[in-house]
Amino acid sequence: MGTDDSALTWCPSGQPDAPESVVLGVRSGADGRVTYLAEPVPAADVLGAIPEGIEPTRVLRFASHCVSACAHRRGNDCTLVQRVLAVPVREESRAVPRCHLRGSCKWWSQSGVDACYRCPAVSTAHLADDELATLMADPTATPEQLTAWIAADAADRADAAAPA
Ligand code: SF4
Repeated sequence: MGTDDSALTWCPSGQPDAPESVVLGVRSGADGRVTYLAEPVPAADVLGAIPEGIEPTRVLRFASHCVSACAHRRGNDCTLVQRVLAVPVREESRAVPRCHLRGSCKWWSQSGVDACYRCPAVSTAHLADDELATLMADPTATPEQLTAWIAADAADRADAAAPA
C-alpha cells in the first residue's frame, strides 16, 4: 500500500476542531461506549452547545480526515487501530455498529469488522490514570506491548482475587 489515501478516508477517532470534522456518535452510559448517529452532524454546529470546561471528546466522538501527518500513521497504515485490535473483544460486544462512516472509514478499510467490534469502546480523550488507554494512544507503543500489558494486568487481577 504505497499510495496516500488520506483524501479518501476518514478517521473515526478524529479531532473536533478540524474544518471538516463531524460528530460520529455520542458517548453514553457508565462505560462511555459510543452510540453512533445515523447521519453526520458538522462538529461546528454542536461545539458551541457543550458547556465550558467539558472536553468535547469526553461526550462525543468525532470523525475527521485521515491525514498523512498524523502521529499514528506509518506509511498508509493507521497504527492506532493496530493497537486497538490488540484489546480482546468481549463476546457480548461482537456486533457491527450501524454507523454513517463505514463507506470512508480508515479503520474499516484497514481492519474490517474487527475494528468495528472495538470501535464503540474507544475513547479519543483518554483518562490520564487509565494506563491501558494511555498506552493505546501512544504512537510509539506497539500492539505487542499492549498484549503484554493486558496479560500482565490479567495476571495481577488473578493474583489479587486468589484466596490468601
Ligand atoms: S464502527 Fe467501524 S466503520 Fe464505523 S467508525 Fe467505527 S471502525 Fe469505522
